[in-house]
Order: sequence, then C-alpha cells, then structure tokens
Amino acid sequence: MENWWQKPITALKGIGSKRAEAFARLEIVTIGDLLNYYPRLDSYIDYSHLATIRELKTDGSRQIFEAEALRAVERVSGGGRRYAVITVKDETGYAEIFLFGAQRFQARRFKAGSRILVTGRVKPGRTAKAVSEVLLQFCDEESLDKSVGILPVYNLTESLTQQNLRAAVRQALQLAKEYGLPETIPDSICRQYGFLSRIEAVSNIHFPESAAHFRAAKKRLVYEELFLLQCGLMLNREHNHDGRPGVKLARDGKLVQKVLQNLPFTLTGAQQKAWADISGDMEDVKPMHRLLQGDVGSGKTVIAALALAKAAENGFQGCIMAPTGILAQQHLETLTDFFKDTGITIKILTSNTKAAERREILQELAEGTLNVLVGTHALLQEDVVFAHLALVVTDEQHRFGVNQRAALVNKSDYAPDVLIMTATPIPRTLALTVYGDVETSVMRGMPPGRKAVETLCYTGDMRQKVYAGMVRQIEAGRQVYVVCASIEESEAMEGIRSVNDVYAELKKTWLKNIPCGLLHGKLKPAEKDEIMEAFAAGKLKCLVTTTVIEVGVNVPNATLMIVENADRFGLAQLHQLRGRVGRGDKQSYCVLLTDNQEQDNLARLTVLHNSNDGFELAQRDLELRGAGQLFGLRQHGLPDLRLADILRDTDVLLAARKDAARSLAQPELRKEMLKGAANLFDSRFAGIFNS
Ligand code: ADP
Ligand code: MG
Repeated sequence: MENWWQKPITALKGIGSKRAEAFARLEIVTIGDLLNYYPRLDSYIDYSHLATIRELKTDGSRQIFEAEALRAVERVSGGGRRYAVITVKDETGYAEIFLFGAQRFQARRFKAGSRILVTGRVKPGRTAKAVSEVLLQFCDEESLDKSVGILPVYNLTESLTQQNLRAAVRQALQLAKEYGLPETIPDSICRQYGFLSRIEAVSNIHFPESAAHFRAAKKRLVYEELFLLQCGLMLNREHNHDGRPGVKLARDGKLVQKVLQNLPFTLTGAQQKAWADISGDMEDVKPMHRLLQGDVGSGKTVIAALALAKAAENGFQGCIMAPTGILAQQHLETLTDFFKDTGITIKILTSNTKAAERREILQELAEGTLNVLVGTHALLQEDVVFAHLALVVTDEQHRFGVNQRAALVNKSDYAPDVLIMTATPIPRTLALTVYGDVETSVMRGMPPGRKAVETLCYTGDMRQKVYAGMVRQIEAGRQVYVVCASIEESEAMEGIRSVNDVYAELKKTWLKNIPCGLLHGKLKPAEKDEIMEAFAAGKLKCLVTTTVIEVGVNVPNATLMIVENADRFGLAQLHQLRGRVGRGDKQSYCVLLTDNQEQDNLARLTVLHNSNDGFELAQRDLELRGAGQLFGLRQHGLPDLRLADILRDTDVLLAARKDAARSLAQPELRKEMLKGAANLFDSRFAGIFNS
C-alpha cells in the first residue's frame, strides 16, 4: 500500500464518518496524523507498577493505583468554586480524589462499589491521602486487561474514549509494520546518535515495551522535532537572506547628537550601553540582528529613535513596525518630537491610511525622500518598497511571525539592519529558535522618577469595595481599566467573569452614568482603534477589556487597573498589563481580584505586590508554570512542539542546530534531509517548509 499514511482514518476498522468527525476535532484526519498524535507523556498506565494506597508517596508526584469507590460528594470552596470529592479505599487505606472545574461532572458516573483506576498527584490530606489533577478510569466501562503492560493515555475530545484512540493507533502501527514507515532524519545522524528507527520510536511512544524503550523513543522524537524545526527555519532564512550586501554606516553624527539634545532627559546607563551595542552593529557591514529586551517603560523607544536617526544621517531609510494602529500613532508622535529640527521626514502607514496619502507615501519611499516610515502590518504589503532601506525595527510583544519579519526585511536591495524590541525576557534558546542567530541587549531597571504601581490582591468578596474605589478615581478625573480573562461565558471555563458580563453589570450599577468602552479581540480592528482612541482622548472613563490592551498604549491619565480572575494570568503577563497604568505623575494602582483562595494562588499573586521587575517575574513564571505554557511557538508563526521543550532540551536544541546547518551545507545530506522532512507528513511543519 503506497503512502498509506495519507489515507483518511476512515480506512481503519471501527472508524466511520461520525467517529472521524470526533477525530477531526483533535486535528487527526489521516492515519499519519494519528501516529503523530502522541499520548500524554506523564500519564502512561503501567500495570506492572500499580501501588496500593498505603504505598502512595505524598510528595505531589503523579502515581497510579486502583481502588474501590465508596462515595462521591459535591462541595463548594470558600471562594464559591464547586468541586467533587470521591472517597476510595483498598485493603491498605483510604484516599480522597478531588475533581475541580468541569472534571467534577465525572463524579456523576460514579457507582458505589465500582472499581476505579486513578492517576494523579498525591499529597497529604486532612483525613486521607488527597489526589488531585486526576485521570479516572471507571473499570466497568473499560474492561481492564492487566497483561497489557504499559498503556498510553491520550487527550480526548467528546465522544472518544481512550479505548477508541488505542485501538485506532494499534491498527495504524500495524500498517506501519507491514508497509514501512519512512525515515525523517538522515541516516548518518541516526547512526551517530544511536537513535531508534522511526518506526520503533513511534511505536514505543504509543505503546512502550519498557521504560527504557520509552526513553529511547522520546529521545529520538525530541531530536527529530528540533532538528526538523531548525532545518525549516534555516531554509527559510536562506531563502530570505539571499546574499544582498549589508550597509556600513559612519560613526554617530549630527542628527544623532541633535536627537540626544532634543530629549527632555539624559540616557540611563542601561540605555547608553544598549545604544553602544546597536550603534556599533550599524557601523559594521554585516547586517545587525539584535534583540533589545527591556521591561515595559524601560525606554526602548528612544533607542529606536537614535537608530532611525543614524540611518537617516547616512542617507538611508528606516522603518518601525508596531502591532497596533494606536501604538504606531504613538510612536509617530514620540518620534516627531525627538526628531524636531533634524530635518528627518517621518510618516505613518496603517490600514486606515487614505488611498491618496498612501500613494504619496509609496512614491516618496521609492524615491528615497521619506526617511522614516512608522506603521503596522500595513508595511508588509508588497507594493511598499524602499529605495535605500537600511534599518528595520519591530516593536513587538510576541506578535509578529517569522514570515512577517522576513517580508519586511525583503523590501530593498540591501540586507537591512534588524532591531527587534521586546518587553518579554526571552530565554536564549527560544530566541535562537524564533529569531535565528541573534545578539541580545538587555536594559534592566527603569528611568529615574517613576512611581511604582502599587499592586493589591483581593478575593472576590472585596469586589464591590474595589468598584467603589474605581468610581472615586473616575470622579477625581482619572481613568480606569478593567481587565477580564475571556470574552463570552459560553467559551469560558466556569467561574470566569467574561468581559461582556462585567461590562453589562458595571453599566447597570456603578458606571450607570459614566461613559465606558468595551474592548475585545472579536471586534474589527477599526472598531478597536476607535474605542482605544476615545479612551486615550479621555472621552471614555473606563475601559472594560480583555488582554488586547496588553500591547501597549500610553494613557498617562489612567491610574487604576482592576484585573478580574487574576489567577488566570501569568505573572509576566500581569506585569505587562499593569504597565499600562503608572505612566503619568499620579500614584497608580493595580488591583488583582481572584476567587481562587488556594494558598498557592494567593502566594503567587503576592509576588506581584512585592516585585516590579519584569525579568524576575518572568523567571518566577517559568519556575511555576513551565516553558510550554509561556512560550508557545505558534504565536511566532512556528509549529508548536509536541515532545521537545525548548528550555529543558537546550543541549539537544544546540546539537540539532549544528546538525541542521551541516545538513544544509552538504549537498548529499541536504537531499536526504529534505526527503526526510517530506516524510514527516506532519501538517504543523508544512508552513515552514513550504515557504
Ligand atoms: P518602552 O520600553 O516600554 O517602550 P518607552 O520608550 O515608552 O518605554 O519609555 C517610557 C517612558 O520613559 C517614556 O515616557 C519616556 O519618555 C521615558 N524615558 C525614557 N528614557 C528615559 C530616561 N533616560 N530618563 C527619563 N525618562 C525616560
Ligand atoms: Mg514601547
């Protein structure tokens, strides 16, 4: 059977069109997709190692045991969260199983006396061992065959069971054994590392023969993911950096000096250091590729202004791309101030730019008479072409994809210098993956004279008092943000106060006669801009919003931010959010509201009360939540990784990078690599290999 992996999964026994629909919800359409749908790596069921309840270690680790169900009850936490507790026992003792959120409905399937297989984290409890983050299997539904060894556990969707997935994967593996599974990594590399063959690896990631087989399978598949990702990225870059000459600029001259004089302040030490790095890069003929990391408010815009002025004084053009229209507009205003009396010409291009204006801008760009162009994604359009573009600045907070950045860099006959500004500290290995070979300048600390935002954390019972405080701020002439975690109740997990609900509630009560706006990601860009502009102009006093405002606007008159369901956000994200207040000379506040009264959560949020250092917070987040949640590659226009973890698998990543570079450089190896990449039949990777 040729290319059997491209066949739809309905070719497998037991999968009709109805069930195929359920599989499609997991993005499994072909048999190949199914094989690439790896199980949860922390949840295999190992029948050779079932513990008794007495043997369970209460150290918070994931363990597995089988027990008899005694009773199930539903309870309400202090914060109003509903959860279920199932009490179970075996010959050696009792345990309590905690089911939070939607999981609690599973308790309804409970029957006294039935046997349950439990996987979960075990901690000491008040009366019995407490098990949370559980995965339950009611044994009467899935007859347990304990001779099977190690079984995979998959993430499911409605109407599919573990049994369905396992049966389908077993059939797919059978096909692989019969008809062969093509290799994805060049032969020599497989041998060099002593990797399992692809078929052995895939087979053992689903149904490990032993713990050692599992580790070997994982090792190979982690490498495979990182190797192919690096190959894809390097091919991409090869394609985009097609040997155009770089530009070599002269030492800082009159215009840079003039901009420095125009500043109403002097550069901080951190800014001077960053500027020295960047200025030096621009004086080198090798194109600059630098990441400027600095906390919200650390003063990155000035650095961009200096770089743009430096390009201009050498007779070249520069552009700066921001993620939103408002941000672009603010850059235009700031830069116009900084460029006073320099003769540097600057214009803005967004999707709102009128056709006639746009035509004029394009002409000036092509003639080389316009020095600096500020804009949004509108800069990426094909007819935006520069005569002598020497500098591309992107001001981003994880908002631009790899391909977008590449499109911008391709807009002139030179390979321009590239400066990427970000407020999120990015680990080195992630930066290498997302941006390629990139140098980094970090600005820690804040310019002098800023009042730190005072951060307070309250539980929901204080909400009305907080709202009363909000009205006082508004009556004193200030403005307020209310940030929510989701848009609609229906798409939210329970217990989340949606932006629509909060807005409706406030309009009926506290903010009845006060103009306020509602902002979320489902609005059209023009609508969003309009509301933001009205808020920036002070026409709206309160903005009820989702995190769309994260990508920052500057409204110095906003002095209070209230965050609903604060426990739903990462620390670094909350830190970025609160950076929207405290931009003027008034004392500002950020109030975190949470209904989750668990100690861990409150302790986590208190970290924000005690620290204003974005880098420190990001580090804490990393420790608390892990890399996967924080650094999804998808937001960079890259495939999300399934097995590899860019932070944990640093060594593998670096090795894979070297191997990828070698594979691109040697013609034979290159051929083999390209063939292997095609054999991955993984739609996630299609994007980077096809461009
Ligand atoms: P971000 O890094 O978040 O883009 P900005 O460039 O917007 O930060 O700067 C934040 C504020 O700090 C601006 O109002 C800016 O004028 C001010 N600022 C920047 N550098 C300095 C400095 N060296 N001394 C005093 N204020 C500064
Ligand atoms: Mg900024």
